[in-house]
Amino acid sequence: MLKILRIDSGAAGGPKATEVPTGEYTGLGGRALTSSLVAKEVPPLCSPIGAENKLVIAPGLLSGTTAAMSGRLSIGAKSPLTGGIKEANAGGQAAQVMARLGYAAIVLEGKPENDDLYKVYVNKDGVKIIKDNSLKMLPNYDLAEKMKAEYGEGVAMISIGPAGEMKLSAATVACTDMEFRPTRHAGRGGLGAVMGSKGIKVIILDDSGMKMRTPKDPEKYKEANKKFVEGLTKHPVTGQGLPAYGTNVLTNIINEAGGYPTYNFKQGRFDGANKISGETEAETETARGGLATHGCHRGCVIRCSGTYNDKDGHFLTKQPEYETVWAH
Ligand code: SF4
Repeated sequence: MLKILRIDSGAAGGPKATEVPTGEYTGLGGRALTSSLVAKEVPPLCSPIGAENKLVIAPGLLSGTTAAMSGRLSIGAKSPLTGGIKEANAGGQAAQVMARLGYAAIVLEGKPENDDLYKVYVNKDGVKIIKDNSLKMLPNYDLAEKMKAEYGEGVAMISIGPAGEMKLSAATVACTDMEFRPTRHAGRGGLGAVMGSKGIKVIILDDSGMKMRTPKDPEKYKEANKKFVEGLTKHPVTGQGLPAYGTNVLTNIINEAGGYPTYNFKQGRFDGANKISGETEAETETARGGLATHGCHRGCVIRCSGTYNDKDGHFLTKQPEYETVWAH
């Protein structure tokens, strides 16, 4: 991963892609890379949805290898919500695919000259940027169906929905999971609005023909990874609690301790906690034909996620997380 893909949305005639060496960012990955680049290249007083802000998308240093749990994607920019340097991260397939394509980061920069909307397609042969105004105001799930019809299910997608296009300050950036559903979101700080301000609706990453990244010493790497996986699977939280009940494994425990942030942090105990606990969630998911244990990307051994169906057994959403549940 020794190159960065920079897409200048402000270029004459529409966004232009340039590949540059990682240079001073070599050796950085994930949050270290996204935040360093924003700190260095984005003027602190600029408008978060203006020409000078940059959206930086970076896999972790081990993404694209056989290392377990190496598939989270970091996204950074000056936040439209807080005005500070924001990092939000998401699971899904994008980080692994992007790393196998050799990119340490994709940087969206500049300001488009008009309201046209673009999709970016990246594969082993390079980058195509295509104007596609038929995607305007498409929700992420509808967009995923459209992209699946065009590119198949073997690719990864990073996208925004209508909130990002409208540059709302709480808009997210969505990533597709192993089933090509846009269920994983970089949700903090309104980074979807920054992507929307660059006129980029969707990035399709296709690693067909690319190989897994290989370490310098494959045997030692394998050994270290084995120890890491053993540690995770033997630990009661990562080996039992999270796989069985997801992040809502915390609900009953924290509620009992009086620290459940209910009624907007005014109280620490919620009478109905058991009804929204990880235990109840897992039971409901299983009863409706969904999954109580599910990984959001290949190589995840914790599998803290799940699939939540409606009463008729149709997929509704991924398993809602602890913060989402207590906040509602
Ligand atoms: S399923 Fe859970 S543990 Fe696995 S990568 Fe996704 S968020 Fe992390």
